[in-house]
Amino acid sequence: MPFGYNGKILRVDLSKKEIEVEEPDEYFYRTYGGGACLGAYYLLREMFPGVDPFSPDNIIVFAGSCVNGAPVPGFARSAIVFKSPLTGAIADTQAAGYFGPELKFSGFDAIVIKGKSDRPLYLWVHDGEAEIRDASHIWGKTTGEAQDAIRKELGDERIICACIGQAGENLVRYACVVNNLKHAWGRLGAGAVMGSKNLKAIAVRGHKKLEMKDRETVLSIAKHFSTNFMKESPDNIGLHNLGTSQYVIPQNEDGQLPTRNFQTGYFEGAENISGERMKDTVLVNGEACYACSVRCKRVVKADSPYKVDPAYGGPEYQTIAMLGSDCGVDDLVAICKANELCNKYGLDTISTGGVIAFAMECFENGIITKEDTGGIDLRFGNKEAMVKMVEMIARREGIGNILAEGVKRAAEKFGRGAEKFALHVKGEEVPAHDPRAKGHLALMYPLCPMGADHVQAEHDGAFTPGWTPFFAQRVKPLGILEPLELSSIDHKKVRRFFYFQNVSSTLDTLTLCVFAFAPVRYFTLRELVELVRAITGWETSLWELLKLGERRVAMFRAFNVREGFTKEDDWLPERMFEGLLTGPRKGQKVDKDKLREAIDLYYEMAGWNKDGVPTKGKLAELDLFWVAEELERHGRYREG
Ligand code: SF4
Repeated sequence: MPFGYNGKILRVDLSKKEIEVEEPDEYFYRTYGGGACLGAYYLLREMFPGVDPFSPDNIIVFAGSCVNGAPVPGFARSAIVFKSPLTGAIADTQAAGYFGPELKFSGFDAIVIKGKSDRPLYLWVHDGEAEIRDASHIWGKTTGEAQDAIRKELGDERIICACIGQAGENLVRYACVVNNLKHAWGRLGAGAVMGSKNLKAIAVRGHKKLEMKDRETVLSIAKHFSTNFMKESPDNIGLHNLGTSQYVIPQNEDGQLPTRNFQTGYFEGAENISGERMKDTVLVNGEACYACSVRCKRVVKADSPYKVDPAYGGPEYQTIAMLGSDCGVDDLVAICKANELCNKYGLDTISTGGVIAFAMECFENGIITKEDTGGIDLRFGNKEAMVKMVEMIARREGIGNILAEGVKRAAEKFGRGAEKFALHVKGEEVPAHDPRAKGHLALMYPLCPMGADHVQAEHDGAFTPGWTPFFAQRVKPLGILEPLELSSIDHKKVRRFFYFQNVSSTLDTLTLCVFAFAPVRYFTLRELVELVRAITGWETSLWELLKLGERRVAMFRAFNVREGFTKEDDWLPERMFEGLLTGPRKGQKVDKDKLREAIDLYYEMAGWNKDGVPTKGKLAELDLFWVAEELERHGRYREG
């Protein structure tokens, strides 16, 4: 067994209440790495196409990688992989915090869960053992109440709990899972899948030390990062001081801060909801994930006009934009309250904000009225309505029951033209980065197997004309030698997107934090390779690690193809082909013909046929011929 892994994967069948331990060989670990790629392996191998995401047959995988547990900045993440109830496609959602390292210390690399319990349960994983325990007493509780009860019951305040709240129990299709109350595996409904299985939480604790091949090298690279990142990395200085909320003002000044359901990219109230304003008013502290000197997490507290509990952290850029400017809300405390409620009830802040903004635009256009909203004046800018909607969605109360289904299904239910206000890709709500402004986003949303996901590749901003040596140095090892205009989607941009996607996919497979690694952040690609070598003892290379990322994307695509997704699903919402209404980028839009050309070119680059199906040759090259056989068995290779 390589260093860095425990060599043990926990298998849990909730229907049979059975637990087993699997011990894969080194070939498995080196081929699939961990995180999203490891999870995709189980979904492709053990799930049939067409499974209802809420059925017992859906598999949900919690996975770390070789890096978790090493005391290095950016090594705190873990992934949850499952079939999404929001999209019906494969889902990979990542969270930092403490769960990933603690899972490693508990003696396991991943947990693979299937089946459905006939009563509420939680899983207790500790020091090489696991047990299924009754959760009847914490069903219906918030994440905070559930975590407190579990820690008290097991007598250890340092237990790390991955919990769902009422939103997951109520099968809100974008319910999330949180660890330590504030680190969310946010997107695509992992919380709802846990809820469908009657699984309230996974509690982990362990005392096993991570075995590394060359501990000294790992510690020395980590020390170099912590000593220097503030001196040399402009983006990390901002992250340390303001967290991701540092992006609110620059995004607005550049005309790309989503405002009033993406009608425009300029919000007149941006100053009021900025990171700087947060620092001057409600910020209590910055906080770190396990062993991370960046400390980009926010903790906020307020008493008026809402009481905000600091235990639930503070809003990140995405939360501020989606529940703030995108809903026309310029009250920072209201956004902090909505963030607290999302973490308490277990709701994805991005989809929640997108859904509320959609409902507000429907209301302003008379598609829904006060009769539908229970008397609530659901106009853009109404902060009380925004906060109230979060509660109603989590509890599926009134119109919240429809909005809990996501914008795609809600628009179908509302009818009367609501579809044009439903901004989603493959059913996933568009996050707070505008594809009309950034070319990588225009490619990323349609081409990401999961839907509109903004972390599938680094964005364009740092790699435009006038780029600094810091950023140029980080991407030259990839053969990216020239900056490109921000919004272009020509052949050079498609190439760069393809390379950046493989880098991000590698980070997701190795459960590494994007806020610590190249292309934009401090760790270089060379250091990435050195760290994996020093931990595992493998004589690995950038080539091999990037193949991990490419393998993940190919497996995700193959999963979706097997489910019946086609190239028609690779597209943007209509609004993105219409010009922004106001602001510095007024009139800017994505060109449909150019996007079609770019998507076709990407298919060729990725080794997919004209129908968007990964070819047998590409899958064989990635050592995934068994996946090609699976697609063949399901008739997915036709003349194309
Ligand atoms: S960079 Fe931020 S999100 Fe990433 S591990 Fe460090 S503190 Fe957590």
